[in-house]
Amino acid sequence: MTSGSPRLEVGAGAAALVREVELLLLGTGTSSGVPVIGCACATCRSDDPRDKRLRCGACLRLVDESGEPRVILIDVPPDHREQALRHQLGRCDGIVVTHDHVDHVWGLDEVRRYNVLMGRSIEIFAEPEVLASLRRVYRHVFERQSNVNESFVADLVARPIDRRRPFDLCGLRFTPVPLLHGRLPILGFRIEALDRGGAIAREQPGPLPLAYCTDCSAIPPESWRLLAGIDTLVLDLLRDRRHPTHFTFDEAVAAAGEIAARRTVFIHMTHDLPHAATDARLPAGMSLGFDGMVLGGRRE
Ligand SMILES: [Zn+2]
Ligand SMILES: [Zn+2]
Ligand SMILES: [Zn+2]
Repeated sequence: MTSGSPRLEVGAGAAALVREVELLLLGTGTSSGVPVIGCACATCRSDDPRDKRLRCGACLRLVDESGEPRVILIDVPPDHREQALRHQLGRCDGIVVTHDHVDHVWGLDEVRRYNVLMGRSIEIFAEPEVLASLRRVYRHVFERQSNVNESFVADLVARPIDRRRPFDLCGLRFTPVPLLHGRLPILGFRIEALDRGGAIAREQPGPLPLAYCTDCSAIPPESWRLLAGIDTLVLDLLRDRRHPTHFTFDEAVAAAGEIAARRTVFIHMTHDLPHAATDARLPAGMSLGFDGMVLGGRRE
């Protein structure tokens, strides 16, 4: 990170408050994961570690203005425990949810360990309908007073997202990007660093501005402008054959070409797509994601 010009007005795009920002792809597989249970196809039997895909989730890691390390989860898939152990995650400073499908939120119980480690509650940001769904599935968490026994459950604070309004978390601005997942409206997020005045920082650290757009079969007209000028795009790419709720290879590459981020990484692949051969088919500036891939930050 470089410091902004002292002549810049605060709020007119000064230096970012956060540094060492990176996005870690914790899982890059479709809802079944890869390998698929009981499948003996070439991808499922592959020795390439990039062909082992846990369910989709990611985390933003950064250092905030006070020098504290922060971790923000994007979705909490059923594989979260394994992902957390693999990457030694030991805290969670917020959870941002794209939609309420099982493969994206049925790991939410696991975050109770972060509550214990940090000794505080965790804010979870999701649209009201998604929060309502989470309240049904995780009744033991959101209505803990009705549990028969005093249980070890997560301590979450619900923060409803208005899809027309950005929200700020740990020095970052999250702008909801409406996406269509078949007929289901879900959210992607445009993520940018803030300056001291609460404006978008003039210089964006790491992979920022970044957009995380999982589970998407169409980008509505009003969302394209929210994806303009980004550095890094993370986008759904399911397989080659058509699918009612996800981008195919050709659709994802075409959308990424339109958005024209400096770098695009694809996620949510099925076992139809072996990593090495599929990656080789992609145009310059686009690559297939894999579990453990780090975008931005010092290790890239
Ligand atoms: Zn297979
Ligand atoms: Zn989904
Ligand atoms: Zn999914």
